[in-house]
This record gives sequence, structure tokens and C-alpha cells, in this order.
Amino acid sequence: MSELSQLSPQPLWDIFANICAIPHPSYHEEQLAEHIMGWAKEKGLHAERDQVGNILIRKPATAGMENRKPVVLQAHLDMVPQKNNDTVHDFTTDPIRPYVDGEWVKARGTTLGADNGIGMASALAVLADDSVKHGPLEVLLTMTEEAGMDGAFGLQPNWLQADILINTDSEEEGEIYMGCAGGIDFITDLPLTREPVPAGFATFTLTLKGLKGGHSGAEIHVGLGNANKLLVRFLAGHAQELDLRLLDFTGGTLRNAIPREAIATVAVPADKAEQLKTLANAYLAILQNELEMKEKNLTVLLASANSDKAALTTASRDTFIRLLNAMPNGVIRNSDVAKGVVETSLNVGVVTLQDNNAEIVCLIRSLVDTGKDYVVSMLESLGALAGATTHPKGGYPGWQPDAHSPVMALVRETYQRLFNKTPNIQVIHAGLECGLFKKPYPNMDMVSIGPTITGPHSPDEQVHIESVGHYWTLLTELLKAIPAK
Ligand SMILES: [Zn+2]
Repeated sequence: MSELSQLSPQPLWDIFANICAIPHPSYHEEQLAEHIMGWAKEKGLHAERDQVGNILIRKPATAGMENRKPVVLQAHLDMVPQKNNDTVHDFTTDPIRPYVDGEWVKARGTTLGADNGIGMASALAVLADDSVKHGPLEVLLTMTEEAGMDGAFGLQPNWLQADILINTDSEEEGEIYMGCAGGIDFITDLPLTREPVPAGFATFTLTLKGLKGGHSGAEIHVGLGNANKLLVRFLAGHAQELDLRLLDFTGGTLRNAIPREAIATVAVPADKAEQLKTLANAYLAILQNELEMKEKNLTVLLASANSDKAALTTASRDTFIRLLNAMPNGVIRNSDVAKGVVETSLNVGVVTLQDNNAEIVCLIRSLVDTGKDYVVSMLESLGALAGATTHPKGGYPGWQPDAHSPVMALVRETYQRLFNKTPNIQVIHAGLECGLFKKPYPNMDMVSIGPTITGPHSPDEQVHIESVGHYWTLLTELLKAIPAK
């Protein structure tokens, strides 16, 4: 028996232990899906799957509650497979080994899959536990959320009967989510021309590093330094006076992480090397002053280098530098609906130079789809001015906050009544599946709740035991309180 069977509430924890025992990383959810289908049919519940593999299970209303608005409880089937370097674990065959450590449940050396396994277990526990009172109920378990939201993208209209969707994929007990940002990648390709570095030039690498970096959505409002933007700003200020030639520029590693480091390889006439050094030091002092509170470890390093690369022509150099320097970055607009939350942002994430081409990859996020369109149009305009080709890629919609959502108001009242404190109504500047559900189900009233999970997507993932109890109480009281149609 798992030590999770000692925990309360049951059967939620036992169901979670069973989920842990069946491998279910993204793209390998089939075994768990089949298990759940068999389990539901054994219980005499209607269960079916759609063409992308999403599971839908229906349970009739508790006697006397048939007139309530139908509700769908939703979770994703997959988990993120991450392990420590020294852990031997095959996520496609080996079970997750959860254990209790004080107030928390953790896994041994791997992600736990509490994201979204606790949510999934809570939905199945409502199906299993006849003492929970509810109106007409559906449970929707989606495929491959963590690796592209395949299930949410494939969800068909007229499949769900519910009017209200409760998403269980948020990770802070006491917070209620009513909206999330959508995103889109944006790629700018600028053709480059090169020529040999003139004789008598000295070559250097100019490195800007030591920035904190972070999640390009959740932390975009913090005002952290973006290495790409900070390095190009120096070049924009001094390339012409130094007669500087640009051989290379590379910065950032992921489009969804704020870049921590950028490096330019440059050449200047030998008699200007001293001036370059002075200017680089002066620039470091400027940045240290501007970012004193946020970026304590920021440094600018100039080092002699050898390179046989050709340099960009001065015209090509200027176009590249001006394009990147003029590119907007960070917060574009804050939300009027969700106070203190970013509505639209972008992260100038990755810059790389090839022989004939510079590529700049941005990730744009917005709570409103037209906010993304606005940034796309700015970047397209900028690209056109520079003679670059541009293309957006892989967009997904946001979940626009609805300040008048009845279910959000009901969750707030229910939480207040149960715990005698006001929950935080939140919008996240990152992705949830709810935005995609709005397409086939534009009138669905949606809200997202969950227990407290820290370190999701990492081997440090853990779920707070007491918060699971609070979350379960909130969920079951909420189901009881859903109004009549
Ligand atoms: Zn999740």
C-alpha cells in the first residue's frame, strides 16, 4: 500500500497514487487513458474518447439536483518528465514514486506529476464518491497539454454539454484564475552582406552577462535586463564613432526565457581599441546605475579575440543594429480588467548570426488576441523598414478575463464562506488550456483552481498536503452551490 493512502481526503489520494503508478509523460498517455476508461466503465459511467484521444466521462446529477447547470471538471492527462542527473528513471515504463515529506508529497528524483495529477484525481474522486453532491457532471481529461496543448487544440464543438468549466491546472491554493495570456512566436530574418575586416583592425569579444533571466511571461513585468537589448544598445551608440565592424552577435537560448547573456565579436581600428575599452566600462557603469535594484551581477567584459570571420559591411551592420535596437521588448500594456497584470508583452529571446542571415526570435504574449496582432504588426513594420522577412509561428489564443463571470463570483463567495478570507483573483501572463476551449465553446463560463504546487516541471515538484484538502473542500462545496439553469 502507498503511504498516500494514509492521507486525507480519500479517495483522492489513492487515485493519485494509482495515477503515479502508471507512466504518463506527454505523448505516452495511452496506458493511463485506457486504465481510466476501464475504471469509468466498471463504475457504469458513460465514457468516450474523441479523435485526438481526449477522455469525456459523464455522471448523472445527484437526486434532486438535475436542474442545476451542468459542469465539466477538466484536467490534462500528461505530466512533464524531468529527473535529476543522478536518478535512473525511464518515464515511459517506470512508475513515479511519491512519498510524504512533512507537509508535502514529493517524488524520488523525478517530477511528481501533481501538475495536473491532483486535478485529475480530484475529478475522478468526484465520480467515485457518491457522497459528493452535484448537478449533471462531465469530466474532461485532455491529451498532451505540456507539449503543445494537442488535446485542447483538437477539442470539437458540441461534444461537451456543460455550461461551466472548472479547470484544475492552477498551482496556488487561495488563488482563483480567471484568465491567461495567449502566445505566438515571431521570427525576423535579415539578410546580411559581409566583407573582410580591414587591415590594422583589432578584434574583441564584448560580452554582457550575469543577468538573472526568468520566465518570459510570469516575470516580464519585473524589469529584468534583456541581454540582447542591452548589448545592441551599446553598439547602436558607438559603432559609427568607433568605425566598429561586427563579426558576430549571439544572445539568449530560449524564446520563452529572458536572455541572460549576449556576446558580440567586433573589430575596431587598432588606435581606437583604448576608446572601445573606455566606452565599454562607461556603459557598464550606466547599466549598473539603471539596474542597480534588479541586476546585481550584471557585467560587461571586453576581451581580445582572434577570428578569421568576415565582418558585416557597414551598411549591413547599421541595419542589423538599428533593427534589433528599435525592436520593442518587455511590457507593451497592462490590463485594465486585471489590475497589476500584464496584458501584452514580448520577449526578444534569441538572436543568432549566420554568414548571410541574422535571425531574431521573439515570443509575444497577450491576454487579448488583438494585443498579439498589434505586436505582430509592429514587428512586421519594423522588419519591412529593415528589409527583413518576418513570419509569426505557432500561435495559441489567450483566455480573456471576464470580470462578470458568474462562476468566478461563485468560487470567490464559496472560498470566502469556507475559509473566512478573500481569495486572490488572478490572471496569469502564461498559458492555460482555457483560451483554446473558448474557440469551440465561446459561451462556456470558466474558472481555474488548484492546490499549492511548487517547482512544477522540475524534480523539485511537490504538492502541499493541507492545500489539497482545502482545494477538495472548495471544489465539492462549489459543485453543491452551482445554481439552477
Ligand atoms: Zn499543468
